[in-house]
Amino acid sequence: MEFNDSTMELRKDQVKELREIDRRWMTFHCEKCNTVFGDGLSVCGEVKSMGCILLLKVTKDIVIDDKKETELKGDLAQCMYSFLLCRCCRSFVGRIIHSSPTRLANCRSMFLLHKPSLCCYLLNSSSMVKATSISFELKPIGESMKEMMREFEGMYKQIIHLKKDVLDRSTIS
Ligand SMILES: [Zn+2]
Repeated sequence: MEFNDSTMELRKDQVKELREIDRRWMTFHCEKCNTVFGDGLSVCGEVKSMGCILLLKVTKDIVIDDKKETELKGDLAQCMYSFLLCRCCRSFVGRIIHSSPTRLANCRSMFLLHKPSLCCYLLNSSSMVKATSISFELKPIGESMKEMMREFEGMYKQIIHLKKDVLDRSTIS
């Protein structure tokens, strides 16, 4: 893959954990044509055995194939699913499971994007990386809650500071 923008670089060497990356500033792209498929806020985890990222929503540039597929063996045994295709280059980018046994209940109606078919653009570092170079396993909910609490506390302090500034200015004038 080539990029004309000199600030963009392709790094393949290391696998990063999602917690090391600010996923609010991440977008997913077609590995072949760079069409945008979604963003990091939609990520719900990873199914390592299938090499897929679970996304809640994707852009309209992912097309759900009309044909329903079934398999008797493997990870998708006893599932009914459809292939997901890139609207622009028509390449395979993943699957959506319509019905499944309980072992895959958390994947039903989610978009399972195939990691080797994706690139991720990290806005903070202006870099394009392969999705396979990132682990999308989510941290335990307790850890996420603590992080969210810290963010809310920071926002609360900012609001208090702004309120004090506004009051100070109104008493001066
Ligand atoms: Zn494409």
